[in-house]
Amino acid sequence: MANTQEIIDLTERYCAHNYKPLPVVLSRAEGIWVWDPEGTRYLDFLSAYSAVNQGHCHPVIMAALAEQAGRITLTSRAFHSDQLGPFLKELVELCGMEMALPMNTGAEAVETAIKTARKWGYTKKGVSDNRAKIIVCNDNFHGRTTTIVGFSSDELYKANFGPFTPGFELIPYGDVGALAEAVDEDTVALLVEPIQGEAGVVVPPEGYLREARRICTENNALLMLDEIQTGLGRTGRMFAYEYEGIRPDVLIVGKALGGGVVPISAVVASEEILGVFQPGEHGSTFGGNPLACAVARAAMRVLVEDRLAERSFELGQYFMERLVEICGEKAAEVRGKGLLIGVQLKPGGETARTICERLKEEGLLCKETHEHTVRFAPPLIIGRDEIDWALDRIARVFG
Ligand code: PLP
Repeated sequence: MANTQEIIDLTERYCAHNYKPLPVVLSRAEGIWVWDPEGTRYLDFLSAYSAVNQGHCHPVIMAALAEQAGRITLTSRAFHSDQLGPFLKELVELCGMEMALPMNTGAEAVETAIKTARKWGYTKKGVSDNRAKIIVCNDNFHGRTTTIVGFSSDELYKANFGPFTPGFELIPYGDVGALAEAVDEDTVALLVEPIQGEAGVVVPPEGYLREARRICTENNALLMLDEIQTGLGRTGRMFAYEYEGIRPDVLIVGKALGGGVVPISAVVASEEILGVFQPGEHGSTFGGNPLACAVARAAMRVLVEDRLAERSFELGQYFMERLVEICGEKAAEVRGKGLLIGVQLKPGGETARTICERLKEEGLLCKETHEHTVRFAPPLIIGRDEIDWALDRIARVFG
């Protein structure tokens, strides 16, 4: 097998440079641990941007993968498969909803939600042709398609990729007044993350989602929550909106739905809302494929049976308290919920990138978001001893 440097050289030579990975190659994984080709072990503190909530190669999920792979993997939606119906039933029950539309990646599910809201707006709310408006928030991250980056507030994401899709209005995140002002008769939806992950684990003021729910209801606009990163146990609840005791009209899930094994995402809503689609209006060759459905069914079972949301809540509280003690001097803020935690560094000190490089030397794999925030998001199966192991190393880097 090639060594770490050879593999990095090969990848850098042939892969478009749209990422800047830490200089580590992962060739094997189990649970919360990953290994490089030389056998060095690291603790995974990113969980593939929260797609590996159940831990790497979870035996229950791998068994479902192998079993399904030996039977049938792809039918396309031209025919029925025996996995799609059961998967969707289990998904909508987990979400307390009625119907779902399966896709593959998070960005595709967000695009699907946008189409859903627009068609709902024209056919149910009575918005005039081509007037539908969707309200989105500054510093949002919903994916990388041209429509989605078109309503980003981050120049890096959109520069040189225009022209963009119209019909979106940006308002400040967490600002109820701005939302009340922006919403109008053409507004079909507010699309928002309950916690902004990529922006640096930004938690909105308490009560924000409750107020957003009220404003959407009063104005007959859909509340569409992007829980692709925050959902499925990551923030200490199955879904982050549960903290505010509300329910969205449209819920978007992805990442950990595939148990870190396959890409699978979905838009989950009521029959009234998702019922707007007619045959031929939307689709995907791989969306809802039986292999991904079988894996997702196992991935959801693991989340529930291993009580990973509860675990994330308890360990997240402990981890955050200890982080505040440890990072004190260097941190401007430690924030988050459950096991989605961001440490914002004080300006003028080390960059988040440098901290991540030093953490890697200690055996901890983390990734910076923007220049000044380090995100800590281990698989939710992590134990307290392993958190302590990580804290010792974080203390060395921050000390
Ligand atoms: N929405 C949110 C909140 C995300 O965090 C992400 C990815 O990080 C996406 C959407 C896009 O998902 P994907 O990369 O699977 O397209």
